[in-house]
Amino acid sequence: MAAKINIGKSTLEVVQSDITLQDTEAVGNAANSALAGGGGVDGAIHRAGGPSLMAELKARYKGCPTGSAVMTGGGNLKAKYVIHAVGPRYSGSPKDAALLGAAYRESLELCSQQNISSIAFPSISTGVYGYPVEEASRIALNTVANYLERHQDIKLIRFVLFDSRTYQTYVAALKELVLPE
Ligand code: ADP
Repeated sequence: MAAKINIGKSTLEVVQSDITLQDTEAVGNAANSALAGGGGVDGAIHRAGGPSLMAELKARYKGCPTGSAVMTGGGNLKAKYVIHAVGPRYSGSPKDAALLGAAYRESLELCSQQNISSIAFPSISTGVYGYPVEEASRIALNTVANYLERHQDIKLIRFVLFDSRTYQTYVAALKELVLPE
């Protein structure tokens, strides 16, 4: 199952799958600001990638502020890099949206710096962090679409949604996405 649109020469795609199986150059992770490892998608990525991910995080970083991201190698994953992005815990304050958008934008900035041309993202913050999926999907897709319009270096951004309700919500948000001329 997949839905996609083109933005310039790049593709923005939404699929229902497991992020640990993706063959994009990078995969995004929904990390916590201690970079301490956790459940959900973070646990799945660390299990599939192996211990080198945590070893690299511990050696290189002392945590990561909410709304930002850090990068490691992909270990045993097909993806060469993992971008550990820290989304906000949903609080209902207007700051949530800015922080969620920033987590995606900073991840893409790391891709541009590293000449990474394809990345798969999970739905950051909509699991344990409680962000309502309808709102989070609109913020996620608008933020990355905006980035693609300005940066032709990234050729593919794929959202990989684990469960069918989240997938359907992202498909609906993709259909409603309004792109400037
Ligand atoms: P957060 O703490 O940022 O909310 P979670 O890991 O709790 O992060 O959830 C984020 C999203 O990732 C949820 O939609 C969850 O269902 C999804 N998820 C969990 N495992 C995987 C996986 N292997 N691949 C893709 N998405 C996953």
